Amino acid sequence: MAGLYIHIPFCKQACSYCDFYFVTQQKYKQEFVDELIREIYSHKDTRFTTDPIQTIYFGGGTPSLLTPAQTGSILEAIYSVFDVQAEEITLEMNPDDVTRDFLSGVKSAGIDRASMGVQSFDTDLLNFMHRAHTSGEALRCLELLQSSDFNVFTVDLIYGNPGQSLEVLEKDIETILQFDPPHISAYSLTVEPQTRLGKQVKLGRIVPPEDDKVARHFDLVVNKLKEAGIMQYEVSNYAKPGKEAIHNSNYWDHVNYLGLGPGAHSFWWEEDLKTAHRWSNKPDLRSYLKQEWEQPFEQETLNMQALAEERLMLGLRTRKGVASEELKSRYQFSFSEEQLQYIDRLSDEGKAIFDQNLRLTTKGLKIADTILLDILTK
Ligand code: SF4
Repeated sequence: MAGLYIHIPFCKQACSYCDFYFVTQQKYKQEFVDELIREIYSHKDTRFTTDPIQTIYFGGGTPSLLTPAQTGSILEAIYSVFDVQAEEITLEMNPDDVTRDFLSGVKSAGIDRASMGVQSFDTDLLNFMHRAHTSGEALRCLELLQSSDFNVFTVDLIYGNPGQSLEVLEKDIETILQFDPPHISAYSLTVEPQTRLGKQVKLGRIVPPEDDKVARHFDLVVNKLKEAGIMQYEVSNYAKPGKEAIHNSNYWDHVNYLGLGPGAHSFWWEEDLKTAHRWSNKPDLRSYLKQEWEQPFEQETLNMQALAEERLMLGLRTRKGVASEELKSRYQFSFSEEQLQYIDRLSDEGKAIFDQNLRLTTKGLKIADTILLDILTK
């Protein structure tokens, strides 16, 4: 089984915190779709089409800036090149693009999971993040979604914003819960240096919130969603039982995936399962339209040690953790004495549990990045 990631690089405007690849000019959308279809066809009868495709994910950028017909033509090309046995086909959407017709159009085109980039309902926060939608549009799109044929959907939420109070966050969570979402992704705002937010922080115009405050936000998200039966299954992801995202879970499990479109990354195991490759297309629409996707922009070969460390890092961010048996048989990896001592300490402090699987508790997940760094440097 494998996954497909399709990067749609168009956005209406630049959100202040975003470091994904996108352009705000809209005029090359059809050229892009045509080129993407060429890229899809370039894989016909290659080794990438032998694994059945379990998941397809349209990310971006803003995939909802394409028309349902354009999305349908991309899916049609995918179906004619790959052996699609999809259990999940997701499209990221922004609230200001969503209408009843749009939802029914993309559903008929073959999308079965909607990922809605709400982030907040608070006008000041939406302005601060430079989101293109209003609070009213966020509410309306969720109403439309709830009354549509999409019974599987996810809503994105951001916490840890400078100036975001616990009360505002609580109100955002309660508003989302009114729409009974099966899945929520809640991200702590990260300050990336190349973004508008990053530059303002560097200039001292914005002070990022203290770690303690972000930790209180995290606790609030975990607890409020838990009360609603939406359980944390990864640091930033929450779902009702059985509604966990398959595509993202497969990334964490090192399942093969092919990324298409400018800036998209791919990951594929060698046939002997001793090494894997990761490569990406250049994050540049002009180069992409000149067919530069034919050559990888960046590529690396990952040996077993690198793969084991990555699997550990990704697995420990999930609630189920990672099985030591899997680390041994798939990656020939065992913990060193020093790592085991550190893990014992984590267990004593209630931050980890180590039986068949090594996994972090809620207390551990809150500081997952620090713990992962500590484990890997032991
Ligand atoms: S809409 Fe999404 S991809 Fe586009 S700038 Fe905003 S966060 Fe980034």
